[in-house]
Order: sequence, then C-alpha cells, then structure tokens
Amino acid sequence: MHGNRLIVMKFGGTSVGNAERFRQCAAIVGEAAKHDRIVVVVSAMAGVTDLIFKTIEAARHGDGPATEANLQKFEDVHRRLIANLIEPQQQAAANDYLAEVVAHLKNACTALSALRSDISAQTADSLVALGERISAWVLAGYLQQLGTHSEFIRAENVIATDSNFGNAAPDIEATRKQCRQFLLPLLDRGTVPIVAGYSGADASGKSTTLGRGGSDYSATIIGAAAGADEVWIWTDVDGVLTADPRICPDAATLPEISFEEAIELAYYGAKVIHPKAAYPAAEADFPVWIKNSFRPEVAGTKITNDARPANSPVKSVTSVKDATLISLFTRRDVHPVELWGRLFLRLGQEQIEVLFATQSSPEHALGLVLRKADAPRVLQLIHSIFRIELAQGVLLPAEVNNEIAVVAVLGESMKGTCGILGRVFSAVARCDVSVIAVAQGASELSICFAVAAARGAEVVRAVHDEFCQPAGASIPVCLRPNISVATGTQ
Ligand code: ADP
Ligand code: ASP
Ligand code: MG
Repeated sequence: MHGNRLIVMKFGGTSVGNAERFRQCAAIVGEAAKHDRIVVVVSAMAGVTDLIFKTIEAARHGDGPATEANLQKFEDVHRRLIANLIEPQQQAAANDYLAEVVAHLKNACTALSALRSDISAQTADSLVALGERISAWVLAGYLQQLGTHSEFIRAENVIATDSNFGNAAPDIEATRKQCRQFLLPLLDRGTVPIVAGYSGADASGKSTTLGRGGSDYSATIIGAAAGADEVWIWTDVDGVLTADPRICPDAATLPEISFEEAIELAYYGAKVIHPKAAYPAAEADFPVWIKNSFRPEVAGTKITNDARPANSPVKSVTSVKDATLISLFTRRDVHPVELWGRLFLRLGQEQIEVLFATQSSPEHALGLVLRKADAPRVLQLIHSIFRIELAQGVLLPAEVNNEIAVVAVLGESMKGTCGILGRVFSAVARCDVSVIAVAQGASELSICFAVAAARGAEVVRAVHDEFCQPAGASIPVCLRPNISVATGTQ
C-alpha cells in the first residue's frame, strides 16, 4: 500500500491497438486504482492518427475514392473495437458516439474536397485530435462496464495551450486551474478520469495539438498541473533501451536515466518518449517511468533529475535516419558570421530544429544538419534571406546532401571521461564508413555525427557493440527486481 499516491498513466498507440490491448490497459488501471489515485491519458489506436492525416490529404487533393476508403477504415477499426469490447446493452451508445466523430471528420473532408484548398493548421488540429477522443471515450466506457468508476474527459477541458496549432505549448498555470476544476473533484470521489491525449485547447477554446507523439507530453503536463507523484508511460518495450530495438535486437533496458539524457535521446530519434515530455516533470521534480504494457511485471526505466550513473559512460546510441546536410560557403574575402547569425535567427523564428551545425575556423563554411522534412523550407529561407548575397556571389549556391543519417552517442558520464571519441570513431572505422560531419556539445552529454544514410543502422550497431555489449560487464542491464502493477514503484 502506498498511501494513495496520484499517478498519471499514459497508454500509447500499440497499448490500445485492439480490443485485447484495451482489456490489458483496463486490468492495469483497475488494479492500480485499488491503491492509488489514477488519471489516465490515452493515445489514438495505433495507426489512427496517421490515417486521419492521410484522409485529410486525400480530401484536400479531391481524391474522393481514397478519402472514402480512409474514412471507412477509420470507422471499421473503431466499430470492430466496440463490437469486441463493449457489452451489448452499451453498444448503441458507443456506436452513436463513434458516428458523431465520423460525421465530424466526414463533413470536414467534404468541405475540404469542395474547396481544394490548403487546410488551416487550426482545422487540422480539430480533426487529428479525434483519434484520441474516441479511444479515450471507449476506454472510459469499458472501465465503467468492469465496475471501475471512470469518466471520459475531453483534452480541451484540461490542457490549456497557446494558439500555435500543430505544435502548441502548454500554459501550466491555466492547466492547473482546469485540473482543479475537472480532474481533482473526480479523484476525490474515487473516479478515474480518462483524458484524451495529444491535444488541448487555446484560450478561445479551439482544439490544438502538442506535436506528433504528444500524448507523452499530455501526461507530464497533467502530472505537473495536478501535482502528481509519478507519471507512468505505458508502451510496447520494456523501457528506455540502450538502442532502438528495431536496429539492435540485443539492446538492454536502462534502469535509470536523467531527464537531461531523456531529452537528448528523444531529440536524436528515440521515439520512446516525446522530446518535450521531460520538461514539466523535471521542473516539478517527479519521476517518469517508461513501462511495457505487454509485460507489466517488468520494472521499466525510471527517469529522474538525479539518476545514478550507469557502469558504461555511454548509455544509449540513437539515430535520425532521414537527415539532410546543407553546406554553405562564402567567398573568402567576406566575414560570414553576420550571415550565419541572420540565418540562425530566422531558423529560430520559424521553429526549425537544427540537429547539429559545424563551422570551420576560417568561418567560410557552415554545415547544417537538419531533419529531411525541414530541408525544403530551410532552402527556401536561405534563398529569400540571402537573395542579394547569392546574386552577387558572396554566398555560393547551397550544397545539399539528402542521404544522411545522424548517429548520437549519449550519456552523462561521458563528461570528463577520456578516450570516448577514439572508441566511437574506431568502431565506425571498423565498418569502413567515413564520417561526414561531427559535433560534441559543450555539455558532453552527446556526440553526434553524420554518415551516409544507407550505413546508419550498421554504424549504430557497431557503436552499440563497442559500449553496450551484453557480454561485457559494463552493460547497464535491468537490475531491479520485478514489481507488480498493483504495488507500483519502490
Ligand atoms: P507509443 O505508441 O507507446 O507512444 P512509440 O512507438 O511512440 O510508442 O515509442 C516506442 C517505440 O520507440 C519502441 O517500440 C521502439 O521501437 C522505439 N525506440 C526507439 N529508440 C528507442 C530506445 N532507445 N528505447 C526504447 N524504445 C526505442
Ligand atoms: N496519436 C498521436 C500521434 O500518433 C499522439 C500520440 O500517440 O502520442 O502522434
Ligand atoms: Mg509515442
């Protein structure tokens, strides 16, 4: 018994992928709710958010058959879920709710294909949030059916954000007020609120989203605003691993990492936690656990402000496989710092993330490594900011390499440890791969480098073998005893 802690539990897409997965979530929640006060945050069913984006795209391009097929798929997936999960007396109500959601999506698609115009970010947010709305509604209904007091809560009633549609930032103070109004009274009555993840609302009540993968962020925002003791993120792997298990099947679970490490890890491609999710938790100083909903008995990874160092200086190796290197060169007789300054200012204003940048000492060359999806926008910016410099030949035409993978080697204990770079690049050299660009942050938390995209996975495996080999004593494997869901964390 843990004295009635407040725990926010988030279930990701694969954890609510079908009726059987919903049953497992409900079992986890039902058991935990016997001991602690639980708030649940739910993602859309696996693949559903992508499906909504595809549906919108099809409608926008006037592709009637594809729009219709996608809408049908959206409806079928949820209708099957309801048929397999909800008891017969409640199915009509559940199907009515689904019909409302489908009608909302369908009407918007009809308008979009009639106009054939670009969709506003505001309208897109109101539609892509529907996947979470329906999955949270169904989970709440299913829990009630099992006898666990629960209530569906719209994300718009809880998470207050700015109006940056598609990538909104939370207003924690306003969210705190809404938690007091909508969540805490339910908890006091012994009810489990089931909140739709990924979205929120701006000050005028319009739906916003927190960026792809944003339900993790929803959980920590609510955790901070509601004064949670812990946030548990339930996913489909045992925790944060030493590498992406799809690239390194022998990757091991890390028992502990720090928020700083989690932020770097997520930034450089580890999808297991949203890059911004660590901030509210680090600020409010409560632990975040990453746990496997398929194996709830496994302890998982604990993320805190003061994680114990691992035995190996390198904790994890991650990669961004779709990256672009843009190289800019100036004429030798100009002083280019002012040019680079203007460029970075614009990148900041446009909220474009630079994975890393390199500048050679005579200052005539700048290498920018970005996500491939951002490269066309950055090239456009370069052309507009430097129109005159390009025309006068002060700046040479940008060189673009779209076939880049960024590999990041991470760990707080690398700081001050000699020989890490040597070992990293010896491992890369053994693959006979040449390194295109390198950066080591002043924080010494990460070393990032760019290689040819086709060789990225091989390089991740080589560096992972060098530092995180299970055969070596240095591997930080999961050392904790297993714990049950009911008793929670130690
Ligand atoms: P969810 O749908 O639960 O939010 P995600 O797909 O967003 O789950 O994140 C979990 C996935 O992250 C895992 O299935 C795994 O493939 C991937 N992943 C990438 N790097 C790592 C890592 N270092 N540790 C754990 N998982 C990782
Ligand atoms: N469903 C949303 C997405 O796929 C949010 C999430 O799952 O975290 O991006
Ligand atoms: Mg995710």
